[in-house]
Amino acid sequence: MDSHCHLDFANFDADRQQVIEECAQLSINNLVVPGTQAKTWHGLLQLSQQYRAVKPALGLHPYFLKHFADSDFDVLVQLLNQFSHAVTAVGEIGLDYAVDISHDLQMTVFTQQLSIANDFKLPVILHHRRSHNDLIKTLKQQRFEYGGIVHAFSGSLYEANTYIELGFKLGVGGGITYSRARKTREVISQLPLNTLVLETDSPDMPPQGKQGMRNKPQNLLLILDELCKLRTESREDIITQCRLNTVTSLRNMD
Ligand SMILES: [Zn+2]
Repeated sequence: MDSHCHLDFANFDADRQQVIEECAQLSINNLVVPGTQAKTWHGLLQLSQQYRAVKPALGLHPYFLKHFADSDFDVLVQLLNQFSHAVTAVGEIGLDYAVDISHDLQMTVFTQQLSIANDFKLPVILHHRRSHNDLIKTLKQQRFEYGGIVHAFSGSLYEANTYIELGFKLGVGGGITYSRARKTREVISQLPLNTLVLETDSPDMPPQGKQGMRNKPQNLLLILDELCKLRTESREDIITQCRLNTVTSLRNMD
């Protein structure tokens, strides 16, 4: 189960169906696809109607805020109502302090979406870059209760435990396949297995050996292989538990 892949991006226009079929053959039966900007929400929802494996989330990604308009919030609320049977979470939302978009705007859009998620009792899929402190502070200030997934977790054991206390699971992605990610690998090896979910972040973040190539959900197995090396549990237990963690942290999963 890939808890984070952008299968709606144009990078998959040529072979989307084939990717989904190959995933099914590999027993990767659920592909959570987070939303990024308002103009692509309808296409994403359509994709989820076309393919049962595609599980949509809806949200405004901080990286894409140059396309943001105030009316996006109204559309979000309307679609969350209309597709309440399908939407898994509000996401991907968060703060990206490596991108050239005002922190104030990012914070406004993030807090507004947290409040919408609260109203709908929905979890969130969190994006972070150099922003753990502000994310954690905001989640606490807003008393956000519905948890979700911290996408592509990298950070300290302390930060990991803070998110876990706030009801979040941590996304384990291609980052752990690189030896330079020593700190993250160590943290992932120390956390309880019931806090981890697997993800690829396709088409981004290709695992080691696939640099410069389009990442794809089939590569989830490479990440699983690496996670197995970091853990003491059996491969079977890791697959079962990570799957369960994903299903229970999101809505409308099979
Ligand atoms: Zn993403």
